[in-house]
Amino acid sequence: MKLLIMGPPGAGKGTQADKIVAKFNIVHISTGDMFRQAIKSGTALGKEAKEYLDQGLLVPDEVTNGIVRERLVKSDCENGFLLDGYPRTVAQAVSLDEMLFDLNMHIDAVLNIVVSHSLLLDRLTGRRICKECGTTYHKTFNPTKEFDVCDRCGGKLYQRKDDNIETVESRLRVYNNQTKPLLDYYKAKGNLFNINGEQDIDKVFAEIKTTLGGLK
Ligand code: ADP
Ligand code: AMP
Repeated sequence: MKLLIMGPPGAGKGTQADKIVAKFNIVHISTGDMFRQAIKSGTALGKEAKEYLDQGLLVPDEVTNGIVRERLVKSDCENGFLLDGYPRTVAQAVSLDEMLFDLNMHIDAVLNIVVSHSLLLDRLTGRRICKECGTTYHKTFNPTKEFDVCDRCGGKLYQRKDDNIETVESRLRVYNNQTKPLLDYYKAKGNLFNINGEQDIDKVFAEIKTTLGGLK
C-alpha cells in the first residue's frame, strides 16, 4: 500500500502514521523527521534546512524533492510506504508524480486529517516527544503515565524547538497559503479521503482503517 497523509501541522499525522505503518507493515517517510535528523547529525543538508525549520518556513522544493527521490528508490519502498509531511506545495506534488511515474508506482490513497484551526495551537504547543524512540505525546490530550517519561521505552521527553507560539503561527500560515491548495490537486485525481481528526486518537485510526479497507 502506498499512501500520503496530509493535514495541517498538529492534525495528528505523525501519531496516525506510527499506527498505520505498524498495521500495514510499510515504511514511514517523514520529511520533517529527515530534516530534524540531518540537523542533529550536522550534515550539509541539516545546515541548509535549519534556518527554515527555525522560522517555520518550508525548505526549498529542490532540496526537499531531492531527499524524497533518494528515499523512494530504496528497495524497502517497493512493498509500500506512507509519506508524511510531503508533498507540501503543488510543485512538490508535480515532482512526486514524476518520481512515481519513473518508478512505475502509484498512490492508493491520500488521507487528509481534518482538524479545525482553533485546536491546532494547543495540540502543537503541548506536544512532547520521546528523545529515545520518537513516540509523540501531548501533555494533556495524550499524557505519559509518569511525567515526562516515555511509556514505551522509559526515555525522557522533549519539546520540539518549532513548537513555540510564534513558529507555530508561521507554520499554520504557511500551511494555509502553500499546502492547503494541494487538497484540490488530489481531489481532482479522485483519491482524497477526509478523516475526522477531532476524535480520540483510536477513533481516528479506526476511521482510517475503515477507509483503507474499502479501497478497491
Ligand atoms: P502532526 O504530525 O500532524 O504535526 P502529531 O501527530 O505530532 O501531528 O500530533 C500533534 C499533537 O496532537 C501531539 O501532541 C499529539 O499527541 C496530539 N494528538 C494527535 N492526535 C490527537 C487526537 N486525535 N486528539 C488529541 N490530541 C491528538
Ligand atoms: P513537520 O515535522 O512535518 O511538522 O515539519 C517540520 C518542518 O520541516 C517544517 O516546518 C518545514 O520547515 C520542514 N519540512 C518538512 N516537510 C517539508 C516539505 N515537504 N517541504 C518543505 N519543508 C518541509
